[in-house]
Amino acid sequence: MPKTRVFDERPPTLSIVIPCFNETGALHQTHARLAATLRGMNGYTCEQIYVDDGSSDGTWELLVSLARRDPTVRAIRFSRNFGHQAACLAGLREAVGDAVVVIDADLQDPPELIPELAARWREGWSVVSARRRSRDGETAFKKATAYAYYRLLNALSDHPTAVDTGDFRLMDRQVVDQLVRIRDKDLYLRGAVSWFGFTETSIEYDRAPRVAGESKYTLRRMLALSRRGLLSGSIAPLRLSTSLGAAALAGGLTTAVVRRDARLLVRPAEFGVQALAIGILGEYLHTVFRQVQDRPGYVIEERFDRAASPLPIVE
Ligand code: UDP
Ligand code: MG
Repeated sequence: MPKTRVFDERPPTLSIVIPCFNETGALHQTHARLAATLRGMNGYTCEQIYVDDGSSDGTWELLVSLARRDPTVRAIRFSRNFGHQAACLAGLREAVGDAVVVIDADLQDPPELIPELAARWREGWSVVSARRRSRDGETAFKKATAYAYYRLLNALSDHPTAVDTGDFRLMDRQVVDQLVRIRDKDLYLRGAVSWFGFTETSIEYDRAPRVAGESKYTLRRMLALSRRGLLSGSIAPLRLSTSLGAAALAGGLTTAVVRRDARLLVRPAEFGVQALAIGILGEYLHTVFRQVQDRPGYVIEERFDRAASPLPIVE
């Protein structure tokens, strides 16, 4: 059982990271509900870090206006859209809290759960995930693919991740410090978090529909995320291709020997297997290439940070 966290000398600090991509429709409400929740958390000092992931709909101007009014708000803006995972990571790098919560900007993850996440953290858990019991307002396609994906990933991965959890979770400072040290530009946050092996627990919630706008996770982005999860979590696909290749070769050899015909060795099916194997190799090679290039995972173009010393006290 984990050890209770005690803060005798100062109140614990909590950072909330909110990745935003074209969220003008939601942000007023999101900020209002977050601010109300954090105000209610007596004994905590809180900051909100909004990361504008290259929006084009006035999200940045809205964030700046929120930050002008609310000293607990900080905002950073990417030079372009670098993706949700990069935005989360940038927020984690900015965060100064003893614990950090990552939450979506569209209120699909209710901010009102944050006190409960924090309570479990105070009990001593290092990672507190919020697991989706249900998903309202999402397409049957999204629900089915998400369900299958989390289970396939776990079957293939070397380290299991909590199923049906996105990035809505609380992480202790220790976990965040480890995360931000990783030099992987294609970092798959939830995979890395479970790989560390810190104590982890979860709470369940019903996922609400988006308050405004459309999902920013297009099919393409979903495929990119699952590809990242699969490639970073295991070498099972690579092993599978080797096994398939070996099986096809053995099969071809056996047939050729049994039928006494060497030409049978060359069969169209083998080309298929080879193509598959090369494709999978190529995926890994591409991933390695991206890392070797050593480009930054994102570029921050602007920041709004009214409070020079972060974390003004929230009463
Ligand atoms: N998001 C982002 N960059 C992107 C896509 C999404 O920062 O390229 C943010 C988005 O603003 C939201 C969160 O990531 O706060 C989750 O995105 P979304 O709600 O569109 O995904 P869904 O909930 O439909 O999976
Ligand atoms: Mg959403």
